[in-house]
Amino acid sequence: MEELYALSDEVINKMLRIPELYDLPVNELKDVSLGKLRKNNKTMLGCCRFKKNSRWIRKNMKGEIIDKGKDFWPYPDTLGPSDVRKIDIHPDLLEAKWFRLAASVLYHEYLHALGFRHCPTFRKLEALWPDKEAILGTRRVKLKSLMYNSWINRRSSNQ
Ligand SMILES: [Zn+2]
Repeated sequence: MEELYALSDEVINKMLRIPELYDLPVNELKDVSLGKLRKNNKTMLGCCRFKKNSRWIRKNMKGEIIDKGKDFWPYPDTLGPSDVRKIDIHPDLLEAKWFRLAASVLYHEYLHALGFRHCPTFRKLEALWPDKEAILGTRRVKLKSLMYNSWINRRSSNQ
């Protein structure tokens, strides 16, 4: 678990230096619990799980609720880090050689924790990650990524 918190520090410190994120509660991400996905999970690198009862609401200028729902949503001030139950990362990503990829994956999950789903704003923010080679982005970008391909073709020690 120590690796997870070292990774988290690294990612949050980088996020605090991205001007486009200045208005978002990046510091609160320090309170989000971190865990590991099951080792045999083949498709997922990370996952942001919201609390069961978390609901987003959207208000107009008068403060009246004009829209509500569940799950995460691409409007600011609807869901945030305190609505997150846990972020899980694939355990193999915590090996030192995958550190850059792990940081990019955790950044992606932290953007979900800030309340964004895979909307255009999310993709814009995702592209701001300073380690460009490690960004996976959309499925199309991911499949072309050298780092992703070497991850997918990694040798698992228990095979
Ligand atoms: Zn995602």
